[in-house]
Amino acid sequence: MRPMTDHLDESASTIRVHDHGFVRLDDSMADDLSVVNGARVSFAKRKDEMSGADEGLIRFLMRDRHGSPFEHNAFRFHIRCPIFVAREWFRHRIGSFNEFSMRYAKATDDFYLPAAEDVRTQVGKPGAYSFEPVSGELAAQARDEIQAVYDQAFDTYTRLVEAGVARELARAVMPVGAYTQFYWTVNARALMNFVSLRNAEFAQREIRVYAEAVESLFAAKMPFTHEAFVANNRVAP
Ligand SMILES: Cc1cc2nc3c(=O)[nH]c(=O)nc-3n(C[C@H](O)[C@H](O)[C@H](O)COP(=O)(O)OP(=O)(O)OC[C@H]3O[C@@H](n4cnc5c(N)ncnc54)[C@H](O)[C@@H]3O)c2cc1C
Repeated sequence: MRPMTDHLDESASTIRVHDHGFVRLDDSMADDLSVVNGARVSFAKRKDEMSGADEGLIRFLMRDRHGSPFEHNAFRFHIRCPIFVAREWFRHRIGSFNEFSMRYAKATDDFYLPAAEDVRTQVGKPGAYSFEPVSGELAAQARDEIQAVYDQAFDTYTRLVEAGVARELARAVMPVGAYTQFYWTVNARALMNFVSLRNAEFAQREIRVYAEAVESLFAAKMPFTHEAFVANNRVAP
Protein backbone atom coordinates (compact mmCIF):
# COMPACT_ATOMS: atom_id res chain seq x y z
CA MET A 1 0.00 0.00 0.00
CA ARG A 2 1.42 3.42 -0.87
CA PRO A 3 2.02 5.99 1.89
CA MET A 4 -0.87 8.46 2.27
CA THR A 5 1.33 11.41 1.33
CA ASP A 6 2.53 9.97 -1.98
CA HIS A 7 -0.43 11.24 -3.96
CA LEU A 8 -0.42 14.78 -2.56
CA ASP A 9 -1.47 17.06 -5.35
CA GLU A 10 0.01 20.52 -5.58
CA SER A 11 -3.31 22.14 -6.44
CA ALA A 12 -4.81 25.14 -4.71
CA SER A 13 -6.33 22.78 -2.16
CA THR A 14 -2.93 21.91 -0.64
CA ILE A 15 -0.93 24.36 1.44
CA ARG A 16 2.53 23.32 2.60
CA VAL A 17 3.26 24.19 6.22
CA HIS A 18 6.58 24.13 8.09
CA ASP A 19 9.29 21.70 7.01
CA HIS A 20 7.21 18.54 6.42
CA GLY A 21 3.59 19.52 6.98
CA PHE A 22 0.56 20.45 4.96
CA VAL A 23 -3.11 21.31 5.07
CA ARG A 24 -5.06 19.73 2.24
CA LEU A 25 -8.75 20.25 1.68
CA ASP A 26 -9.69 16.69 0.76
CA ASP A 27 -13.31 17.51 -0.02
CA SER A 28 -16.08 19.86 0.98
CA MET A 29 -19.79 20.46 0.81
CA ALA A 30 -19.69 24.13 1.62
CA ASP A 31 -20.96 27.41 0.23
CA ASP A 32 -22.58 30.62 1.46
CA LEU A 33 -25.98 29.51 0.17
CA SER A 34 -26.06 26.69 2.73
CA VAL A 35 -26.12 29.36 5.46
CA VAL A 36 -28.78 31.40 3.68
CA ASN A 37 -31.06 28.41 3.05
CA GLY A 38 -30.52 27.06 6.56
CA ALA A 39 -31.87 30.36 7.85
CA ARG A 40 -34.56 30.97 5.21
CA VAL A 41 -36.25 27.60 5.76
CA SER A 42 -37.80 29.26 8.82
CA PHE A 43 -39.94 31.13 6.27
CA ALA A 44 -40.21 28.18 3.83
CA LYS A 45 -37.98 30.08 1.37
CA ARG A 46 -35.08 28.74 -0.67
CA LYS A 47 -32.51 30.54 -2.86
CA ASP A 48 -30.41 29.20 -5.74
CA GLU A 49 -28.17 32.24 -6.04
CA MET A 50 -26.73 34.70 -3.58
CA SER A 51 -28.15 38.24 -3.62
CA GLY A 52 -27.24 41.43 -1.77
CA ALA A 53 -30.01 40.66 0.74
CA ASP A 54 -28.46 37.25 1.39
CA GLU A 55 -25.08 38.82 2.11
CA GLY A 56 -26.84 41.10 4.59
CA LEU A 57 -28.58 38.08 6.14
CA ILE A 58 -25.22 36.35 6.68
CA ARG A 59 -23.83 39.50 8.34
CA PHE A 60 -26.91 39.67 10.59
CA LEU A 61 -26.68 35.99 11.58
CA MET A 62 -22.99 36.37 12.39
CA ARG A 63 -23.43 39.59 14.37
CA ASP A 64 -26.44 38.39 16.38
CA ARG A 65 -24.87 34.96 16.95
CA HIS A 66 -27.53 32.88 15.22
CA GLY A 67 -24.97 30.11 14.87
CA SER A 68 -26.87 27.04 13.69
CA PRO A 69 -27.32 28.09 10.01
CA PHE A 70 -23.49 27.96 9.77
CA GLU A 71 -23.55 24.24 10.48
CA HIS A 72 -25.10 22.98 7.20
CA ASN A 73 -21.80 22.35 5.46
CA ALA A 74 -18.70 20.22 5.86
CA PHE A 75 -14.98 20.56 5.23
CA ARG A 76 -12.82 17.45 5.21
CA PHE A 77 -9.15 18.29 5.73
CA HIS A 78 -6.10 16.07 5.61
CA ILE A 79 -3.45 17.54 7.88
CA ARG A 80 0.18 16.67 8.51
CA CYS A 81 1.68 18.38 11.55
CA PRO A 82 3.93 17.78 14.57
CA ILE A 83 2.32 15.78 17.40
CA PHE A 84 2.39 18.79 19.74
CA VAL A 85 0.34 20.78 17.21
CA ALA A 86 -2.13 17.88 16.82
CA ARG A 87 -2.61 17.78 20.59
CA GLU A 88 -3.71 21.41 20.54
CA TRP A 89 -5.91 20.76 17.50
CA PHE A 90 -7.68 17.76 19.06
CA ARG A 91 -8.90 19.95 21.91
CA HIS A 92 -11.46 21.25 19.40
CA ARG A 93 -14.17 18.70 20.10
CA ILE A 94 -16.77 19.82 17.59
CA GLY A 95 -15.53 17.95 14.56
CA SER A 96 -14.38 14.43 13.70
CA PHE A 97 -10.83 13.10 13.70
CA ASN A 98 -9.00 10.01 12.53
CA GLU A 99 -5.25 9.89 13.09
CA PHE A 100 -2.23 7.95 11.85
CA SER A 101 -1.44 5.11 14.26
CA MET A 102 2.06 4.24 15.37
CA ARG A 103 0.58 0.94 16.62
CA TYR A 104 -0.18 -0.20 13.10
CA ALA A 105 2.37 1.62 10.97
CA LYS A 106 6.02 2.41 11.39
CA ALA A 107 6.88 5.97 12.37
CA THR A 108 8.70 8.13 9.82
CA ASP A 109 11.82 10.14 10.57
CA ASP A 110 10.16 13.46 9.76
CA PHE A 111 10.50 15.79 12.72
CA TYR A 112 9.73 19.47 13.13
CA LEU A 113 12.94 21.47 13.24
CA PRO A 114 12.10 25.16 13.75
CA ALA A 115 13.69 27.60 11.35
CA ALA A 116 16.32 29.77 13.05
CA GLU A 117 13.94 32.77 13.08
CA ASP A 118 11.31 30.67 14.88
CA VAL A 119 13.58 29.88 17.81
CA ARG A 120 12.31 32.37 20.39
CA THR A 121 12.34 33.20 24.05
CA GLN A 122 9.25 33.97 26.13
CA VAL A 123 9.08 37.01 28.36
CA GLY A 124 6.37 38.18 30.72
CA LYS A 125 3.87 36.32 32.85
CA PRO A 126 1.59 33.34 32.08
CA GLY A 127 -1.37 34.60 30.07
CA ALA A 128 0.61 37.63 28.90
CA TYR A 129 3.74 36.21 27.34
CA SER A 130 5.42 37.83 24.43
CA PHE A 131 7.94 36.06 22.27
CA GLU A 132 11.21 37.57 21.17
CA PRO A 133 13.96 36.39 18.85
CA VAL A 134 17.11 34.89 20.34
CA SER A 135 20.68 35.45 19.17
CA GLY A 136 21.81 33.66 16.04
CA GLU A 137 24.19 31.63 18.20
CA LEU A 138 21.43 30.38 20.53
CA ALA A 139 19.13 29.66 17.59
CA ALA A 140 21.82 27.50 15.99
CA GLN A 141 22.55 25.71 19.27
CA ALA A 142 18.84 25.02 19.88
CA ARG A 143 18.40 23.62 16.39
CA ASP A 144 21.47 21.38 16.78
CA GLU A 145 20.35 20.08 20.16
CA ILE A 146 16.77 19.43 19.02
CA GLN A 147 18.06 17.59 15.94
CA ALA A 148 20.42 15.47 18.06
CA VAL A 149 17.50 14.34 20.24
CA TYR A 150 15.45 13.49 17.14
CA ASP A 151 18.32 11.47 15.66
CA GLN A 152 18.88 9.54 18.86
CA ALA A 153 15.16 8.92 19.42
CA PHE A 154 14.65 7.65 15.89
CA ASP A 155 17.73 5.41 16.08
CA THR A 156 16.45 3.88 19.31
CA TYR A 157 12.95 3.48 17.88
CA THR A 158 14.27 1.75 14.78
CA ARG A 159 16.58 -0.51 16.77
CA LEU A 160 13.76 -1.59 19.09
CA VAL A 161 11.34 -2.29 16.24
CA GLU A 162 13.97 -4.24 14.31
CA ALA A 163 14.77 -6.25 17.44
CA GLY A 164 11.13 -7.30 17.64
CA VAL A 165 9.63 -4.84 20.15
CA ALA A 166 6.02 -3.99 19.28
CA ARG A 167 5.57 -0.66 17.49
CA GLU A 168 2.95 0.33 20.07
CA LEU A 169 5.64 0.22 22.76
CA ALA A 170 8.67 1.39 20.78
CA ARG A 171 6.80 4.61 19.91
CA ALA A 172 7.18 5.70 23.55
CA VAL A 173 10.61 7.11 22.67
CA MET A 174 9.28 9.34 19.87
CA PRO A 175 9.36 13.07 20.70
CA VAL A 176 6.28 15.29 20.25
CA GLY A 177 8.13 17.05 17.42
CA ALA A 178 7.51 13.96 15.24
CA TYR A 179 5.02 14.46 12.43
CA THR A 180 1.63 12.80 12.53
CA GLN A 181 -1.27 13.04 10.11
CA PHE A 182 -5.02 13.04 10.48
CA TYR A 183 -8.34 13.69 8.82
CA TRP A 184 -10.52 16.43 10.27
CA THR A 185 -14.12 16.95 9.25
CA VAL A 186 -15.70 20.10 10.57
CA ASN A 187 -18.53 22.53 9.85
CA ALA A 188 -18.05 26.25 9.30
CA ARG A 189 -19.27 27.23 12.77
CA ALA A 190 -16.72 25.05 14.59
CA LEU A 191 -14.07 25.93 11.98
CA MET A 192 -14.54 29.64 12.72
CA ASN A 193 -14.22 28.91 16.44
CA PHE A 194 -10.94 27.09 15.69
CA VAL A 195 -9.66 29.90 13.49
CA SER A 196 -10.63 32.63 15.96
CA LEU A 197 -8.60 30.89 18.69
CA ARG A 198 -5.72 29.50 16.66
CA ASN A 199 -5.13 32.10 13.96
CA ALA A 200 -4.69 34.67 16.66
CA GLU A 201 -1.80 36.57 18.12
CA PHE A 202 -1.94 34.62 21.41
CA ALA A 203 -1.90 31.19 19.71
CA GLN A 204 1.32 29.21 19.49
CA ARG A 205 3.16 30.14 16.32
CA GLU A 206 3.36 26.56 15.05
CA ILE A 207 -0.41 25.94 15.06
CA ARG A 208 -1.15 29.46 13.90
CA VAL A 209 0.41 28.79 10.51
CA TYR A 210 -1.92 25.80 10.09
CA ALA A 211 -4.93 27.86 11.17
CA GLU A 212 -4.01 30.50 8.57
CA ALA A 213 -4.03 27.80 5.90
CA VAL A 214 -7.38 26.42 7.10
CA GLU A 215 -8.80 29.95 7.08
CA SER A 216 -7.71 30.66 3.52
CA LEU A 217 -9.30 27.41 2.24
CA PHE A 218 -12.49 28.23 4.16
CA ALA A 219 -12.56 31.80 2.75
CA ALA A 220 -12.28 30.45 -0.80
CA LYS A 221 -15.38 28.26 -0.33
CA MET A 222 -17.52 30.62 1.76
CA PRO A 223 -16.34 34.17 0.95
CA PHE A 224 -19.33 36.08 2.35
CA THR A 225 -19.36 34.04 5.54
CA HIS A 226 -15.65 34.64 5.95
CA GLU A 227 -16.08 38.35 5.30
CA ALA A 228 -18.83 38.56 7.93
CA PHE A 229 -16.64 36.63 10.41
CA VAL A 230 -13.79 39.11 9.92
CA ALA A 231 -16.20 42.07 10.19
CA ASN A 232 -17.47 40.55 13.44
CA ASN A 233 -13.98 40.86 14.99
CA ARG A 234 -13.32 37.21 14.16
CA VAL A 235 -15.76 35.98 16.80
CA ALA A 236 -17.47 32.74 15.76
CA PRO A 237 -21.29 32.83 15.97
C1 LIG B 1 -4.04 30.15 23.50
C2 LIG B 1 -4.67 28.91 24.04
C3 LIG B 1 -4.15 28.34 25.20
C4 LIG B 1 -4.73 27.18 25.72
N1 LIG B 1 -4.17 26.62 26.85
C5 LIG B 1 -4.73 25.49 27.36
C6 LIG B 1 -4.17 24.87 28.53
O1 LIG B 1 -3.20 25.35 29.11
N2 LIG B 1 -4.73 23.73 28.99
C7 LIG B 1 -5.83 23.18 28.40
O2 LIG B 1 -6.32 22.16 28.86
N3 LIG B 1 -6.37 23.74 27.28
C8 LIG B 1 -5.84 24.86 26.75
N4 LIG B 1 -6.38 25.41 25.62
C9 LIG B 1 -7.51 24.72 24.95
C10 LIG B 1 -8.84 25.44 25.22
O3 LIG B 1 -9.17 25.45 26.60
C11 LIG B 1 -9.97 24.75 24.42
O4 LIG B 1 -10.10 23.41 24.88
C12 LIG B 1 -9.69 24.71 22.93
O5 LIG B 1 -9.28 25.98 22.48
C13 LIG B 1 -10.95 24.27 22.20
O6 LIG B 1 -11.88 25.33 22.22
P1 LIG B 1 -13.43 25.08 22.28
O7 LIG B 1 -13.83 24.30 23.49
O8 LIG B 1 -14.11 26.41 22.10
O9 LIG B 1 -13.67 24.21 20.92
P2 LIG B 1 -14.61 22.96 20.68
O10 LIG B 1 -14.28 21.87 21.61
O11 LIG B 1 -14.56 22.68 19.20
O12 LIG B 1 -16.04 23.49 21.08
C14 LIG B 1 -16.72 24.48 20.29
C15 LIG B 1 -17.78 25.11 21.17
O13 LIG B 1 -18.75 24.11 21.52
C16 LIG B 1 -19.18 24.32 22.86
N5 LIG B 1 -18.81 23.14 23.66
C17 LIG B 1 -18.02 22.10 23.27
N6 LIG B 1 -17.94 21.18 24.24
C18 LIG B 1 -18.66 21.66 25.28
C19 LIG B 1 -18.93 21.19 26.58
N7 LIG B 1 -18.42 20.04 27.04
N8 LIG B 1 -19.71 21.94 27.36
C20 LIG B 1 -20.23 23.12 26.95
N9 LIG B 1 -19.99 23.65 25.73
C21 LIG B 1 -19.21 22.91 24.89
C22 LIG B 1 -18.49 25.58 23.37
O14 LIG B 1 -19.32 26.69 23.09
C23 LIG B 1 -17.26 25.65 22.51
O15 LIG B 1 -16.71 26.95 22.35
C24 LIG B 1 -5.84 26.57 25.08
C25 LIG B 1 -6.35 27.17 23.93
C26 LIG B 1 -5.78 28.31 23.41
C27 LIG B 1 -6.35 28.92 22.13
